[in-house]
Amino acid sequence: MHYLVISDIHANLAAFEAVLKDAGSFDKIWCLGDLVGYGPDPNECVARIQEFDHISLAGNHDWAALGRMSLEHFNTDARLASSWTRGALLPATREYLETLSPMLVEGEFTLVHGSPREPIWEYLLDAVIATINFRHFTTMVCLVGHTHIPLAFAYNEKNDRCYPMVPPFSAPLELGTRRMILNPGSVGQPRDGDPRASYAILDTEANTWRLHRVAYPVAITQERMRARNLPHRLIERLEKGR
Ligand code: ZN
Repeated sequence: MHYLVISDIHANLAAFEAVLKDAGSFDKIWCLGDLVGYGPDPNECVARIQEFDHISLAGNHDWAALGRMSLEHFNTDARLASSWTRGALLPATREYLETLSPMLVEGEFTLVHGSPREPIWEYLLDAVIATINFRHFTTMVCLVGHTHIPLAFAYNEKNDRCYPMVPPFSAPLELGTRRMILNPGSVGQPRDGDPRASYAILDTEANTWRLHRVAYPVAITQERMRARNLPHRLIERLEKGR
């Protein structure tokens, strides 16, 4: 099977469409949460993913848009965008988001938005936190989103340590020999200094993980955000990828 693994679309339809086109043919989408929040197209993105065979998780922004969590942990811009999203959700979008859970196990893969230890909130960004998290799942591979930064951590059982592997990798990562935590980066709001949409292709026959980046018309998303009076800083950051 070829899985298109994506995360953090954040209601950015132009970025999502660019990823779908660039990915070409795939069998199924695995989406690691935060379909909505920040961006201008929450209903459109949720409708679009439902056209595919897919599994999606819930992220903190999806739960915030449903009113399942208070917005006090969000900064001002995120709070404003979340309030707008909450008001903009159509009943069908809301119903769909209500069905999502933040963590699932699919065969040899654990899928989670934040981290296996804290599925909704924890940012899995460094080797110390990654090492702890290897104790919180039992499959060979754990796929995470939430940080908006493509990263990989491989676990060394001999010394109970793990080490980060920073993309771009020279070749697709080989899976199956070591336990790993993998993050495909963000479709709709990358934060690693590269504004292009980020995604990964997981090939379970070849047992490989390959990251991809694709440019999308950032100005279209920015224009739609302006039309919806979304916060200026959120509009600007898209072209910087930070
Ligand atoms: Zn996010």
